[in-house]
Amino acid sequence: MAEPPPSSSSSRRRLKIGIIGFGPFGQFLSKTILKHGHTITATSRTDHSHLASDLGISFHRDMNGFVEADNDVILISTSIVSLSDVVSSMPFHSLKRAATLFVDVLSVKEYPKEFLLQVLPPESDLLCTHPMFGPESGRDGWNGLNFMYEKVRVRDHAVCSSFLGIFKDEGCKMLEMSCEEHDKLAARSQFLTHAVGRTLSEMKIESTSIDTKNFQSLVKLKESTTKDSFDLFCGLFVHNKYAREELKNLEVAFQNVKRKLLDGMSKKLDLSVSNH
Ligand code: NAP
Repeated sequence: MAEPPPSSSSSRRRLKIGIIGFGPFGQFLSKTILKHGHTITATSRTDHSHLASDLGISFHRDMNGFVEADNDVILISTSIVSLSDVVSSMPFHSLKRAATLFVDVLSVKEYPKEFLLQVLPPESDLLCTHPMFGPESGRDGWNGLNFMYEKVRVRDHAVCSSFLGIFKDEGCKMLEMSCEEHDKLAARSQFLTHAVGRTLSEMKIESTSIDTKNFQSLVKLKESTTKDSFDLFCGLFVHNKYAREELKNLEVAFQNVKRKLLDGMSKKLDLSVSNH
């Protein structure tokens, strides 16, 4: 199907969206998706049916019921580390429409792209995305926040454009780039941020009565990164090949800083000995 010109918000199709993985991020996304007039069904490992029903979302305890629902889009919001188990347990033969658009929102991109291309039915479309914000940073709206995506295999452009329209209309900065490019950049930015935040958490840093602004930033970084699950942090490392190099860079940089300090200290000691 040829790619049509971008649709305006009023001409966009109302979509039936199935969310698989109704954890913190799936729930967070669903609130805004509903505002745009789309309908949602959800499934998850844990029973979130009460929470879902409060939001007006039908929740399926079993995967069969979820897959059999007539979804235009299946949005995958499981943890990075559980992706393969969860998706492998999906009975694709029960899909109502073979040409479903699968969308993933995992915080790493090459891994789901390669895995989903292997296991999804060939008739289905695939859009890999990373909304680069979460329940904390996107609490007061998504205006100006980054939304990365790659149209990996898209034939039904109307459905894809309606889905992307949710983020566009919220004012996100829409960044079309390859999954590989994303992972290179995200290792330097997102993984590094989380690694430093988790390190500060290991040090148990807390506010003091004489905090500087910079120290308050460190405490905030510790708090925001540890609000995300350890699974998420682990996934950023295990499933982004560029993260290993960043961890090494961090270790080397720390050793360099330490060496410079110790060199400075021994020079000072040498001076004080020669002055006596
Ligand atoms: P998460 O810890 O990365 O994932 C939680 C979700 O994974 C829950 O739905 C959970 O199911 C499911 N899950 C975990 N282990 C499972 C297993 N063994 N079998 C089946 N399901 C399992 O936390 P999250 O913040 O909700 O993130 C969800 C996805 O969004 C991740 O891929 C993450 O990288 C991405 N993302 C998150 C953010 C963010 O700010 N949090 C931003 C952008 C993208 P139950 O809840 O039912 O147990």
